[in-house]
Amino acid sequence: MQAQLAALVGELGLPTFPQNSDGDVVFQRMSREAPQRYRGMTQEPQSMRLVGGMGILVRVIASSLPAESLRLDSRLTRLTLTDDAVEARFVEAGGTEENVSASHVILALPPRLLEATMSFSPALGEATAARWRGTPTWMAPHAKFFALYDRPFWRDAGLSGTAQSMVGPLAEIHDATTAAERLPCSGSSAFHRPGASWSDGTPSSPLRSVNSSRCSDRRPAHLSRPCSRTGRPTL
Ligand SMILES: Cc1cc2nc3c(=O)[nH]c(=O)nc-3n(C[C@H](O)[C@H](O)[C@H](O)COP(=O)(O)OP(=O)(O)OC[C@H]3O[C@@H](n4cnc5c(N)ncnc54)[C@H](O)[C@@H]3O)c2cc1C
Repeated sequence: MQAQLAALVGELGLPTFPQNSDGDVVFQRMSREAPQRYRGMTQEPQSMRLVGGMGILVRVIASSLPAESLRLDSRLTRLTLTDDAVEARFVEAGGTEENVSASHVILALPPRLLEATMSFSPALGEATAARWRGTPTWMAPHAKFFALYDRPFWRDAGLSGTAQSMVGPLAEIHDATTAAERLPCSGSSAFHRPGASWSDGTPSSPLRSVNSSRCSDRRPAHLSRPCSRTGRPTL
């Protein structure tokens, strides 16, 4: 775990558990080759998960704040610097606008998003705006989804649940089984948006993924055949 986040998790006393990585991994190098199975390696550092999911971190931090200082379902649209404060304008889900005065504002959004969706007074300098527009966001071309299964069936076949594809659209698959293994297990996948480029600029191709139904016998079919059609919420 990233050191500062690990310190915060420890300070808040949140229980963690290691992400399962026991077993073999599957790697798809190119579209004309079947995915290959390799012996898994010990992760260093070990990937960790929070009991209750990452949302628990947000909930615990938020619980120490006064309720009136939280704005949910609200979008920050404008920041105005006055003589002695910063005026923050929020638009609530129903469209109502609210201005909040603050001595300091910390923005926790990608700079590109800030530049594209918010207004500032005084206006951002062109050099700053250009820098924000040009600052890439970690994982921006990726999306994530969870496929939920009744049990981690891939483990029966000696697979860790870890798979990677250079072909896409699924780029990475991990075993995201929750802490309470009796609950439905989930495989988590990152997939690459069609038409987007990889971080090195290589265009992505809409080829079949390791989860494709077009599996040959050489492919570990366990990754492609859900043990259950019934998904249930986890955590
Ligand atoms: C496919 C994928 C896989 C990843 N895998 C991992 C992993 O394995 N391990 C790991 O540690 N990290 C991983 N990450 C990265 C991790 O998800 C991010 O680093 C983390 O979510 C960033 O948190 P954040 O609070 O900075 O931003 P976000 O989680 O993006 O939160 C920003 C929030 O701001 C809200 N917002 C946007 N505009 C406004 C506005 N104008 N006003 C008010 N609110 C606004 C958004 O709705 C959102 O809720 C992955 C990311 C992706 C996409």
